[in-house]
Amino acid sequence: MFIVAIDEEICTGCNECTEGCPARILGFNGEKAFVSGDPTECMGCEACTSVCPSEAISVTEV
Ligand code: SF4
Ligand code: SF4
Repeated sequence: MFIVAIDEEICTGCNECTEGCPARILGFNGEKAFVSGDPTECMGCEACTSVCPSEAISVTEV
């Protein structure tokens, strides 16, 4: 199982990460990305982390 988290202090709000999530659990509030769904539904695909320029997203296998 994977858990995704976004550090809003680091996120620059580029919104590169939200569209590509196959689990549709990443949202954008106009300023920051955030985990909008169940973080444990993350599939661990790393699509979000691979496009994030600020390393604000962490995906942890538990
Ligand atoms: S690792 Fe994949 S499934 Fe998990 S939040 Fe990122 S894009 Fe979505
Ligand atoms: S890609 Fe990274 S910096 Fe850009 S909105 Fe997503 S978490 Fe924030």
